[in-house]
Amino acid sequence: MLLKAGAGIEPANSGFADRDLTTWLPRHCARRETIECSQALSTRGDLTIQRFAESGYREGMTNSRDLFARARRRIPGGVNSPVRGFRAVGGEPVFVGRAKGSRIGSVDDVELIDYVGSWGPAILGHAPPVVVSAIRDAAQRGVSFGIPNPLEVEMAELICAWMPAIEKVRMVNSGTEATMSCLRLARGFTKRDKIVKFAGCYHGHADSLLVKAGSGALTHGQPDSAGIPGAVAGETIVLPFNNIESVRAAFRENKDHVAGVILEPIPANAGLFFPRKDFLHQLREECTKNGAVLIFDEVMTGFRVARGGAQQLYGIRPDLTALGKVIGGGLPVGAFGGHAEIMDCLSPVGPVYQAGTLSGNPLAMAAGLAQLWELDRIDGWKLLEDLGAKLESRLTNTISGKELTLHRIGSMFCLFFASGPIFDLESAQRSDTEKFAQFFHSCLERGIYFPPSQFETAFISAAHSDEDIEQTARVVSEALAAL
Ligand code: PLP
Repeated sequence: MLLKAGAGIEPANSGFADRDLTTWLPRHCARRETIECSQALSTRGDLTIQRFAESGYREGMTNSRDLFARARRRIPGGVNSPVRGFRAVGGEPVFVGRAKGSRIGSVDDVELIDYVGSWGPAILGHAPPVVVSAIRDAAQRGVSFGIPNPLEVEMAELICAWMPAIEKVRMVNSGTEATMSCLRLARGFTKRDKIVKFAGCYHGHADSLLVKAGSGALTHGQPDSAGIPGAVAGETIVLPFNNIESVRAAFRENKDHVAGVILEPIPANAGLFFPRKDFLHQLREECTKNGAVLIFDEVMTGFRVARGGAQQLYGIRPDLTALGKVIGGGLPVGAFGGHAEIMDCLSPVGPVYQAGTLSGNPLAMAAGLAQLWELDRIDGWKLLEDLGAKLESRLTNTISGKELTLHRIGSMFCLFFASGPIFDLESAQRSDTEKFAQFFHSCLERGIYFPPSQFETAFISAAHSDEDIEQTARVVSEALAAL
């Protein structure tokens, strides 16, 4: 029996496209005309392809446009996370109906090579078979228990083994929850209130951390959100990244009041830039000297830039680490962990309260474990470095002599529309965001989906092929020439 959607509600509210509750896309796809299968797709999947450029891509986006119009009526700004809304680059977002490997398939039957990768989680590409089958198997045993399950233990053991600074770990449902919990724990452990963060670093949308933040907040020109009490923001000290003197001064001026210092060890939410030699080691020293908790936000970099994250690359042991993205295999997951002494301040052992109905969810644990073990099995980090190096070498030639700066580490990269050096928020903000917007659309119309903001980082996945990289380099070159 088919349920009727919209039954019993006001006619004005019953404008469902599908009144029989079948989803919009499969029915639409059943009707679509198959246009042409690209070489890449015929070996990789069953998405149809049609280059936007062939039909004039804005005109070709009728289904995306219809969905966005409906979305705007019921979802603020039409999106469930701001940067998806294309505000920074103009135009309207592409709606994705399905994705496989390195490709996303829009509801307009257009296939694109994707460098967003769900903003980081899709490190093996979209819908990797190992992850899909792990989710399917787990679901058959139950989708949520709210009672301890063995996969949580396996995940905790794996995280502690791969990141030795983590002795104990707790699972949560997002990166925001992870960083927010790190702050509360640092405050509870030290019995101090102040937190140091760095301009341009984004740590999710918890109140204390949405001060001079990067990512969507920066993209939309609101690095300080409305709705955050002055008293809360007042406990956050914001400093320039890569400036150890300002950290020393902050410790002097706030003696015995700083609970913790939080940072993205490789900031990737104001574009992508890197810690100067020694900066992270000096921070480690200052935190130890001043009794403050050093918190690495590795939600983006954890298990991506290396098996043990940025802390492995730079040889630093933070006191606490926040994780997310890759460890969820595409499902909503975060985690935070560190010294057992600090972690044992958490309830039910200690006085710092933290909880979650779906934390350690079996589907999410199964997906994350499958993704991590597969990365390990295929030596994913080496593969990603090779792909990244290949793209970098192609792009380096293309951009030479132009006012552009390419930053890359492993599978993360960002092309700034500014000359270097770029090492903090201020230097990143020298970028020409209008030029970036033109470049973005030019690439999109040639079949490449980059993050729709200058202040985001692009991700290569293990499913990107050498041909994808070559094609991307060609498109970037054409798009730059067309500016
Ligand atoms: N920390 C960093 C470094 C991030 O990049 C993000 C999200 O992009 C977060 C925290 C927040 O994670 P989530 O969006 O899962 O809440």
